[in-house]
Amino acid sequence: MRVVIVGGVAGGMSAATRMRRLNADAEIIVLEKSGYVSYANCGLPYYVGGVIEDEDALLLQTPDSLHARFRLDVRVASEVTSIDAEKKSVSVKNVLTGEVTKLAYDKLILSPGASPIVPPIPGVERAHTLRTVEDVERIATSVDRKPASAVVIGGGFIGVEIAENLIHKGIRTSVVEAAPQVLAPLDPEMASLVAKEMRSHGVDLHLGVAAQTISETSVTLTNGVEIPAELVILAIGVRPDTSLAKEGGLAVGERGGIAVDEFNRTSNPDVYAIGDAAEKRDALDGSSTLVPLANIANRHGRVVADHIAGREVRPVLTIGTAIVKVFNLAIAATGWNEKRLAASGRTFTSIHTHPNSHAGYYPGAKQMQLKLIFDPTTGEIFGAQGVGTDGVDKRIDVIATAIRAGLTAPELADLELAYAPPFGSAKDPVNMLGYIAENVSTGLVKTAQWSEIDKYREGGYQLIDVRTESEFRAGSIPGSKNIPVDEIRARTVEIEKKPILVNCQVGQRGHTATVLLNELGFDTTNLDGGYLTWSNSPAFEIVNAN
Ligand code: FAD
Repeated sequence: MRVVIVGGVAGGMSAATRMRRLNADAEIIVLEKSGYVSYANCGLPYYVGGVIEDEDALLLQTPDSLHARFRLDVRVASEVTSIDAEKKSVSVKNVLTGEVTKLAYDKLILSPGASPIVPPIPGVERAHTLRTVEDVERIATSVDRKPASAVVIGGGFIGVEIAENLIHKGIRTSVVEAAPQVLAPLDPEMASLVAKEMRSHGVDLHLGVAAQTISETSVTLTNGVEIPAELVILAIGVRPDTSLAKEGGLAVGERGGIAVDEFNRTSNPDVYAIGDAAEKRDALDGSSTLVPLANIANRHGRVVADHIAGREVRPVLTIGTAIVKVFNLAIAATGWNEKRLAASGRTFTSIHTHPNSHAGYYPGAKQMQLKLIFDPTTGEIFGAQGVGTDGVDKRIDVIATAIRAGLTAPELADLELAYAPPFGSAKDPVNMLGYIAENVSTGLVKTAQWSEIDKYREGGYQLIDVRTESEFRAGSIPGSKNIPVDEIRARTVEIEKKPILVNCQVGQRGHTATVLLNELGFDTTNLDGGYLTWSNSPAFEIVNAN
């Protein structure tokens, strides 16, 4: 059997090596149009910044090493230019000589990845995109010329990583993002923390405005602002590379990726498509989705090799778990965010917490921001987001596992997670989310979101801040009255006989105050996530701007 694989990186190489482990005799040919295979594309931004100093560290395997260990026939500089699905052959162009040859296959696996989106902005030819080793070499050469200024267009994962690495190189760096926030998988109050971190490290961040033209020396934005830009990086997103599949008559799905069945077979059963180029199935609602991430590309590669080898496979579902580092912050997300849930008309509840990465009394504990989104009736976990300097990865990974295992939000309280003071808390942040979810979904307490304060105020609620006087003086929600939680019993006469919206710093004392005030006969709602969530949110920025 001859298996031909198009694309020799994440998905393609996983498929090739798994195929060999399952079939010692198969002829496995990997065709890669660039000069490298099995390179660490996720590490490319760090080569720009010098964090990864040696380019060879990015090159995990070579055609020779892959032949030595796996007897793979790996051909670089070999671009597949067309597929003849009827005759089961591909045309391969030698990129160096231009010569085109035909290659027959029994099974074909397409893993050509995704291409950077290049908008039709005047001057865009000068902008660098980042996808391959050759791309990063070009960017590194430009960086070595020590440009005084750089503009990164796009505040997604690759954009923020590149911006950080350019700052490491001492280059004055601006980031331009057309959306009002960076990192689209986050909700705005979580993304604000990332924007603050970027600005505090010197990134000149332009949100809610697009690049309009690129000249030899600058980038001009749609609001008329002109930013100096000796170097321009374009990172506004990627789209599945479907050109080959389309040309070969294979079906493209509703999200613009190559359409595949549950075993990653395309509309032609002898042709598989995997990785960034292929559509995926969302684990929450079964819809078609695109998740251009390395985990799923690798998983796809393994699964199609198993399927070709006749093994039983589980369909690959995705919840899009992702993480990124931005200076000192780790930012992670899994599942759906509020924006997507609201757009799909789902009912959901969010909770925000600000726990320590480990027991507060043990040195080095760092506060993080966690958000859990779930169905208030069934407890189904829809998604979670985390931002912090330490411990975010662990919590989001635990929640991602819980989502796939079908645990409900209150059941997060039941998880027995490893604990000793240097590592966590007896009530781990994930357990705390479970406790809060239980309180909210059983109706023990009512909570309000940071974005709803005006609505409550207009609805006749009095705002009571139950933090200490000094905390209150350092900053408070406009219109709130300070009655510290420990003084509530003594000062009930000061509380009007109307509904109360309580806030504390992170929501915990507010919860205690809410329960107490309800016992005292008041109708009380706790501000979820407290002053901290509100003060990190766009609502705070609006108040401050006025
Ligand atoms: P790729 O790994 O992109 O491989 C596709 C290969 O196919 C390319 O080498 C291309 O040259 C080749 N090819 C295309 N067309 C043809 C053709 N016609 N003939 C022959 N060869 C062809 N994901 C994460 O999960 N975490 C991260 O931190 C992360 N960071 C990233 C940083 C950068 C800069 C980039 C570019 C991506 C990052 N990703 C990250 C995404 C991740 O790398 C991809 O999801 C993953 O590599 C997709 O695997 P793939 O096999 O579908 O495509």
